[in-house]
Amino acid sequence: AKKTGKNRIEFFNEKLSNELVVKNEIIIALDRAIEIKSFFLNFMPIYNSNEMIGVEILIRNDDEILKKHGPDKYIPIAEEAGLISRIDFIVIEKAFNEIKKILPIIKNKKFFFAINISALELNSESFIGKILKLITKYNIPPEIIEFEITETSLITREENATRTLEQLKNEGFKLSLDDFGTGYTAFNQLQNYPINTLKIDRSFINNINETTISNKNKNSMVEVILSLANLYDLNVVAEGVETEFQLDYLKSLGCHFFQGYLLSKPIDIDEFKSKLFL
Ligand code: C2E
Ligand code: CA
Ligand code: CA
Ligand code: CA
Repeated sequence: AKKTGKNRIEFFNEKLSNELVVKNEIIIALDRAIEIKSFFLNFMPIYNSNEMIGVEILIRNDDEILKKHGPDKYIPIAEEAGLISRIDFIVIEKAFNEIKKILPIIKNKKFFFAINISALELNSESFIGKILKLITKYNIPPEIIEFEITETSLITREENATRTLEQLKNEGFKLSLDDFGTGYTAFNQLQNYPINTLKIDRSFINNINETTISNKNKNSMVEVILSLANLYDLNVVAEGVETEFQLDYLKSLGCHFFQGYLLSKPIDIDEFKSKLFL
């Protein structure tokens, strides 16, 4: 028994140290990527029932380590290592630079650009100032920028967050709560935040299929979010729509905005422009 116990500990130690090695590799790769600003942008279109009405900007990097793990893995590590703000601002500045070029030729004046930011930005005293400086530098109307913040990260830093969110709203920026439904937002707290949009987390869309949905058995979480949004007058984007069935079902519940592989995968700037000017 003793022997198995010891082996088990060694097994855990090995797993733990592997995890630490990977983390360390990622931090080194992030450091370098920040240094040479090698991050670039992908674009994931957001649609209403007949046209592209906006786009979410997603971070990419061709560094071997970063490419292997993807942003879902390295963004949280960047947050932990204190690197996220520099990354967010590389993305924001590159995004503004592209938007400045695209803007004069966009016909739909309501077209919006959604940019992910870490909720850690909301605690930073300098965040608003830096954003406004870039807005001026690139001559971007704040109304076309929607910042996406994850629901979970928002609720854990309530006090500081609210002030920055108010400032962003007052400047004209839009705000959306990302991965909505996975956190524990007391729904009546929603009115305390200056939010425009809820993005239903992919996991709730994922399990919509012919077997889980019958006339009697509806997807309650999606329904709850939609009625909540109705109550507080918020837009809802369904994320991760992969099948016609999911799209039809979401439409039948009164959802108006959609994003997912069925409609478009994340694409590079050239492909995005060609979709935009089709
Ligand atoms: P997110 O904001 O929830 O972004 C959506 C993620 O889901 C993207 O992954 C996208 O490619 C993926 N996705 C969208 N539709 C579908 C679908 O129909 N099927 C499947 N299987 N996947 C779908 P990605 O690009 O790997 O981004 C992962 C996360 O990294 C993002 O989740 C976001 O939280 C974070 N992130 C991405 N870019 C940035 C950034 O510039 N700054 C910060 N702070 N975070 C970012
Ligand atoms: Ca997002
Ligand atoms: Ca999301
Ligand atoms: Ca996510």
